Amino acid sequence: MNFFLVFQNKSYHKEKSGGYLWAPQKNEKGQTFHHWTDMKKVKKGDIIFNSYDTEMLSVLVAKEDCLERERPSSLDDLKLWHKDGWMILVEYIDLVRPINYKDYMEDILKLQGEKYAPFNKIGRGNTGYLFRVSLELAEYLFQILEDTNGITKTSLVLANKQIDIEIIEDLEKELKSTISLEQTEKELIVKSRIGQTLFKKALLKQGNKCRLCGVTDERFLIASHIKKWSQSSNDERLDVNNGLLLCPNHDSLFDKGYISFDGDGTILVSESIDMSTKVFLNINGTMNIDMNERQQYYMEWHRVNIYKPR
Ligand SMILES: [Zn+2]
Repeated sequence: MNFFLVFQNKSYHKEKSGGYLWAPQKNEKGQTFHHWTDMKKVKKGDIIFNSYDTEMLSVLVAKEDCLERERPSSLDDLKLWHKDGWMILVEYIDLVRPINYKDYMEDILKLQGEKYAPFNKIGRGNTGYLFRVSLELAEYLFQILEDTNGITKTSLVLANKQIDIEIIEDLEKELKSTISLEQTEKELIVKSRIGQTLFKKALLKQGNKCRLCGVTDERFLIASHIKKWSQSSNDERLDVNNGLLLCPNHDSLFDKGYISFDGDGTILVSESIDMSTKVFLNINGTMNIDMNERQQYYMEWHRVNIYKPR
């Protein structure tokens, strides 16, 4: 996995809304520069820190290897460059608390390496687009991201839905090292919350409503794993089919095993819940959900291991 830093000033909002990074192959004089041609080095799963007006506002994960693509029409009014260019499709992960590079510049300059580095000797961003980030600098920036935003490298990998074996192996290693380091419970909770947020984001793309009732306010929707996170393999943890979007009420019932679903998606309700509780908790025997084959597989696990019929 490689790391980069992109200076996006003028193009940030347009590139973000389009979900990409774009750089020209040449300028009007036919010249080319490493901060453009380095786009070709970006591979699927690489991580790119952005800079907008001296602040990191987003962290980007490459969804594909770099592509040869003409300038998107939304960048036309910038009229700066040749049409032929390089494009990277990326997932933008926005920071709740932007990071001002200036606050960390002394350390950044020590860690950024000599060649093709993002900042000059006095700590100003170099003129150009994409710069290389040394492993040491990447580790340092991840530390800042974790301290300020609760974002870890693992959570960024989770954000990228198209995960290949190599990345999963990295993830496994990181999960193991987390355990051996005996990090505090608090840190682990932060990590799982971030994972939850990104998993939820993926689920919301499939439908933004509790699967059992009309709650649509995203703030109250919970992305539950059908097969418990702690019991799932890394693949299963990232599989959206292993997710169920529910309101707090229905999530609590499902999570504690008082409701589940049979093979054709009809709700199963624990006999231990009396009629009036059912009414107040908004559950009735006619409720059902659509499930594909993968979802049915996870649901069977839930029925066998979590559901309390009585
Ligand atoms: Zn609900």
